[in-house]
Amino acid sequence: MSPVAVTVFVGTIVHSRSLTELEILSPGVLGVTAGGKVAFLESLSSDSDRDASTTKILQAHGSEKAHVRKLSPHTLLLPGLIDTHVHAPQYAFTGTGYTLPLLNWLEKYTFPQEKRFASTTHAETLYPKAVSRSLRCGTTTAAWYGTLHVPATKILAQTCARLGQRAFVGKVCMDRNGGDGYVEENAADSLQTTQEFLDSFEKIESDRVKPIITPRFAISCTPELLRGLGDMAEKNSLPIQTHCSENAAECAFVQELFPESKNYVDVYAQHNLLNPRTILAHCVHLSDAERKALRKSGAGVSHCPVSNFGLDSGACDVRALLDEQCKVGLGTDVAGGWSMSIVEAMRSAIIASRVVGFGKREVAKIQDGHTTAHKTLSLAEVFYLATLGGAELLNIQQSTGNFMRGKEFDALVVDLDASTIGQGGKEELGTRTVEVFDHDDAAAMLEKFVFVSDDRNIREVYVAGSKVI
Ligand SMILES: [Zn+2]
Repeated sequence: MSPVAVTVFVGTIVHSRSLTELEILSPGVLGVTAGGKVAFLESLSSDSDRDASTTKILQAHGSEKAHVRKLSPHTLLLPGLIDTHVHAPQYAFTGTGYTLPLLNWLEKYTFPQEKRFASTTHAETLYPKAVSRSLRCGTTTAAWYGTLHVPATKILAQTCARLGQRAFVGKVCMDRNGGDGYVEENAADSLQTTQEFLDSFEKIESDRVKPIITPRFAISCTPELLRGLGDMAEKNSLPIQTHCSENAAECAFVQELFPESKNYVDVYAQHNLLNPRTILAHCVHLSDAERKALRKSGAGVSHCPVSNFGLDSGACDVRALLDEQCKVGLGTDVAGGWSMSIVEAMRSAIIASRVVGFGKREVAKIQDGHTTAHKTLSLAEVFYLATLGGAELLNIQQSTGNFMRGKEFDALVVDLDASTIGQGGKEELGTRTVEVFDHDDAAAMLEKFVFVSDDRNIREVYVAGSKVI
């Protein structure tokens, strides 16, 4: 018999079982144990007596005493969203600076802002805002970049623990090419502070907040530093996050700095930084050989479409990555991306995929007068990337990503009727973010959630069964 549930949700439940299998239970019954795990998930026949059928399911699972939550007809229970690439210090300038390409943007906006985190007071002010905003947008797991500073990045990790977010937190490493004097002295200095940061996790009061090795990208790290970080990650079996192939000028500079590497992906492979625990953000300009090397290594990609549009970097061909069997998740990449919302990343991933298709069609027309079929990402696929795909990328799919029995209950209660109430408690016309009509079934409600909703529709957020919003 499955573990006893103490809380049971009855209503429309959606999750991904794989890239191609989106399961919509309408209605479904999901039980959560006292320890915050999924006890069971079953569908109810829509034409049966819902109460009687629910009681039968509870009896079958020995959960008759559970508190039953009946969700309203326009409410969805969804797995928590996973942001596989986001910069907490950059929250301070989100929404500005989108006229510059990556390398100039880093110099003008990013490095001066990140430098300010030498002050722990600044970190204490800003990090709770960034993490709270991320949770409010439904992100139950995030892979955060901090700054070069150990004390400030410790505050970021403590903030995630205190606010209840599942997180990977990285102290950024860079020992060259940092503008505005934002750079560590040398490789040894960067490695030593990274070790200090890793040691500080003994005091973090959450086993869901973990460190991640974080070389900013190949341009800002000497070969000595990259190698040292690769060895440190291997010795401690730690995950690794960095950037790769985001922008054309960046790729050219990497080739100049690492003439002995075959390509950008190879730079990380040569420095012991490419393995199944590696998350490479962007990968917009990969060659076929790089995609193959990536898949062979077991490393995966954080696709950040909002940022790729924001910094005019390009449109990543996610279909090619998926066809190659590479792991892919979604990232907001705040502040390259202007939104902390993975829902925004989902809809932008669909648009980016269509942009790739437009390009392929134009090239095919010019080359041989024919159009080429490009299979754009579907709604089911981007939903997978935002949830289970992200969990697989971060290697936490045993714990989260969907509602399979035994996983921790990371979830969102999405109320599509959420609205701004006008004077006297009477709803004002035009205030709803989403309108659900009689003809909308569960699949249509999910589509409206992805394309039309905003954070006002996310009414409750759970991490491992605890309500954090
Ligand atoms: Zn980034």
